[in-house]
Amino acid sequence: MKVVKIGGSSLKDSGNIAHILDLIGKRGRGHIFVLSALNGVTDMLLASMSDALQNEGNIPGILGRLQEKHWRLAQQLAPGKERIRKIQRLMRPCFEELERFYYGLNFTREITPRLRDVISSYGEQLAVQLLFGLLGSRGVEVSYRLSQHIGLITDGKFGDSTVKLKQTAANLQDHLLPLVAKGRIVLLPGFYGISEDGDITTFGRGGSDYAAAAIAVALGADILEIWKDVPGFMSSDPKIVPEAQLIPALSYEEAAELSYFGARILHPRTVEPLRRSGLEIVIKSTMDPDGPGSVIKARSPRPKHVIKSVAYNAQVGIIKVHASGVGARPGILARVAARMTERGINIKSVVTSQTSITLLLASDDLEAGYRALQTLRPRPYRRLEKNDDVALVGIVGEGLARRKGIAARCFEAVANCGVNVEMISFGPSRVALYFLVRARDLHKTVAAIHSSFFSIPRCF
Ligand code: ASP
Ligand code: MG
Repeated sequence: MKVVKIGGSSLKDSGNIAHILDLIGKRGRGHIFVLSALNGVTDMLLASMSDALQNEGNIPGILGRLQEKHWRLAQQLAPGKERIRKIQRLMRPCFEELERFYYGLNFTREITPRLRDVISSYGEQLAVQLLFGLLGSRGVEVSYRLSQHIGLITDGKFGDSTVKLKQTAANLQDHLLPLVAKGRIVLLPGFYGISEDGDITTFGRGGSDYAAAAIAVALGADILEIWKDVPGFMSSDPKIVPEAQLIPALSYEEAAELSYFGARILHPRTVEPLRRSGLEIVIKSTMDPDGPGSVIKARSPRPKHVIKSVAYNAQVGIIKVHASGVGARPGILARVAARMTERGINIKSVVTSQTSITLLLASDDLEAGYRALQTLRPRPYRRLEKNDDVALVGIVGEGLARRKGIAARCFEAVANCGVNVEMISFGPSRVALYFLVRARDLHKTVAAIHSSFFSIPRCF
């Protein structure tokens, strides 16, 4: 049995949803499909919360837009008025519940983490019901179950929860294996589960990949397929490096590093539940469902040049905390980190020297992070500096830390194109080397490293 995850970018308009319905109908018997919300719906749900908070008069409009988006697809894809009405009847209770949550939010005048998670989970709940209705109207034998009804249990942490695998495995096996055994196609929502106290909690943005991985492990699936609108992991971003190639096989570690810093192929937490089970993931393009895609497994082959991909992330900035002897004085880093946590700001990486601590943050968090540290009293630092004009470049490959000459070759390529390296981080990961360059140097840096490792014939 396979678990297949289908992302929001493959659920965009009637054209690509029709294609997905065909694929599920033809290949889906006895398999489980984990769906994301339709493209853009999670954003709509989240953005609407502040509109609902401001004025309850906005709520009918919010619901109207969401309904219109789903029902237009039902109209385009379901044959005949009766079928469309049937889908609408099926989905109506979901819209009514959602409406109550928006009114509740307005009434209590507060967007709590609990409400944020419940409301944002409706994207997936609606997508599952819509696709269930559409497949049913094509005569496909299909079932759906929602996470709250089958006991996909989480640790209860809002916005960033973790699946409790043992309980979930027992629950999901009870509920789903009999359906699979009958050859049913089963649709499930990604993105959220339910805590032991009965709260809906989400796995964070993009968390349907992680949900699908947990479900695959819980059910002892043979494989986890992630269907996307791209062929798989690439040796670099084809927009910058046109000769970038598909990576046929990666290790869990390599996939996690690439996801964390650069490629938006997979949620970085996806491999977490898989490590112990050794389950393989295959990334597949829905345009080429029989193509090999990228396979992710515990171990991956080592190419001669070691490096599998040159990744980057332009949406980062740094804050430098200058203080003498920070490397020797205990407590400064702890206070800085604690303040960031208090403000809900994620530190992507830290590099310390004797005179400064450098924090790597998402660009969106930079201003808030800077302000959070400015107001820290008593001040544990001499000076603060922030810099948005940076981009993160990384090379990723198993064995990189142990093979001589990899870093040298990388930095030689960077130096040869006249780029200055601002900061290097080597060591925290066995499989990756990261450094910062100025934002304007990003493209030529990535292209130069890629061609140094992938294209230029070398003598050994
Ligand atoms: N729908 C959720 C999001 O947009 C989860 C996902 O698509 O993976 O973040
Ligand atoms: Mg995604």
